[in-house]
Amino acid sequence: MAQDGTTQSKTLRDVRIRYLRQLPARVQRLEDGWRALDGESCSTVAERLYNELHGLKGSGATFGFPEISEIARELEEMLGHGGEPDETCRRHFGQRLARLRELADELAGQSPPAVDTDETPMVPVGIGRRLLIVDDDPEQAELLRLKLEQYGYEVGILQDLGQIESSLKEHAVDVILMDIVHQHDKEAGLNIISELRDHGIDLPPLIFTSARGDIHARLRATQAGGSGYFVKPVDVQALVDTLDRLVQVADEEPCRVMIVDDAASLTEYYRSVLEEAGMQVSVVDDLSRLLPLMSEFAPELILLDTCFGRYSGIDIAAMIRQDESWLRVPIVFLSGESTIERRLQAIRVGADDYLTKPIHDDYLVTSVRMRIRRYRNLRMMMERDSLTGLLDHVHIKERLDVEVGRALRQHASLVFAMLDIDHFKQINDHHGHAAGDRVIKNLSRMMTRRLRSSDITGRYGGEEFAVILPDTSITDATRLMDSLRERFSDMIHESEGRRFRVTFSCGLAAFPDFDHVQGLLEAADRALYRAKAAGRNRIEIATPDDQGQV
Ligand code: GH3
Ligand code: MG
Ligand code: MG
Repeated sequence: MAQDGTTQSKTLRDVRIRYLRQLPARVQRLEDGWRALDGESCSTVAERLYNELHGLKGSGATFGFPEISEIARELEEMLGHGGEPDETCRRHFGQRLARLRELADELAGQSPPAVDTDETPMVPVGIGRRLLIVDDDPEQAELLRLKLEQYGYEVGILQDLGQIESSLKEHAVDVILMDIVHQHDKEAGLNIISELRDHGIDLPPLIFTSARGDIHARLRATQAGGSGYFVKPVDVQALVDTLDRLVQVADEEPCRVMIVDDAASLTEYYRSVLEEAGMQVSVVDDLSRLLPLMSEFAPELILLDTCFGRYSGIDIAAMIRQDESWLRVPIVFLSGESTIERRLQAIRVGADDYLTKPIHDDYLVTSVRMRIRRYRNLRMMMERDSLTGLLDHVHIKERLDVEVGRALRQHASLVFAMLDIDHFKQINDHHGHAAGDRVIKNLSRMMTRRLRSSDITGRYGGEEFAVILPDTSITDATRLMDSLRERFSDMIHESEGRRFRVTFSCGLAAFPDFDHVQGLLEAADRALYRAKAAGRNRIEIATPDDQGQV
């Protein structure tokens, strides 16, 4: 990974050099335009000036030269006031333009920045994902591409809006990053999206980027279906957070629906409609199978007929709700007739919806899917830590309980790991709390991506994490956690232009060496303490001596 970092840094540096080299020519175009504008008001010249300035405004800070963006913004504003510019305005414009010329010449002659200042943090969240950047500014697009590639994304660039349709047909794309202003058109990026929709093209999630930060641009972008909006210079970390979220939604697991109904033909029909929509369906036509199937299948929604042999759906719903673990799972009634009394009765026992047969296929699929999404969100909010999306303290302990129970029954092995970021207080002190939060997020991202899908990760406390590794020997667990430790310590974090590295220490405790939850927790914590005492950035394995009071 280190070698990759170096080669990519060189390329990043190349892009910056190219940018600096062409600055004087850009300023020249501004000066020419300004002279042509002098004396007469010519709208096409003004338009060209405006475009040139807009480009500089967005790119300067992106490449690390905020003063360029700032001057471009001022000039754009002066130009935007319209009417015949008066003498003071003209003088001011001339002065600022002269400063821009000075800067451009100075920077173009500058020796290129050192290689290592162009490294960016590497959390390969985007592996296997393809992004398409649509931007008419080649240098900016290239810079963004290089940064996103460091997160593992595969990135294509398109400069010509006219080719987007064919490009999308050629290559599947997971997310489009669309620049709003193209050439002479302040809303080109927005308009092309409406056009594509009119042509019936199925678009992936969209993120808009622009030097425009005004409310109209933002609202129009939302109307166009944008899932994110980034003002240039794009904050790459924040962009990756959004991409993460979008890509995760696309990854969504299939919805699990249980149908409880004794009318076989209808049940089969509903099953096929829901399965067609990509859901997993389990049918209960024998009530004695209901509870065991519920634990096994863990439904995210239950479709219940209003009557089932000699019981009513209301009775069944009430019984399901008696079990605390099924208090929140959505229950939807299917009924041939619906009187207001029946509906009320259903609501009283905690039903969430009441659908009357015949039910339109699309309606059934949509209402089931929407309810399951809300249920998932609710569970996410209740069980997951809001910063990292990992299980919170209570729920990771609950999972440890479940997993230890399973290991006991199946005579399986299991390892419990406790991680704590080293000298985290100093990171907050030196780089600020927000940078500290980003470090926490980076580590949690890396854990989710690097560990196996069977491993369970949680945020145990502020900068402490817990990992449950089921069916894993202590040797394998040590290898796995040590590679995570190494990768994390290699990662470069960034805050306000300053780059730094962070490490963590880790304690491991194995089942059945420690054969109950409390024992595992205490032993891993003691081992972690030893790792800290022994110099940090290391892993320690709990021994029988680690048993007992912490
Ligand atoms: P050690 O290597 O011994 O673990 O040193 P440390 O500085 O990491 O340990 P200590 O427990 O003294 O400090 C942890 C700090 O983490 C204190 C607290 O302010 C900070 N912290 C806890 N939760 C968060 C959080 O969510 N965000 C940020 N930015 N800081 C947090
Ligand atoms: Mg701590
Ligand atoms: Mg710490």
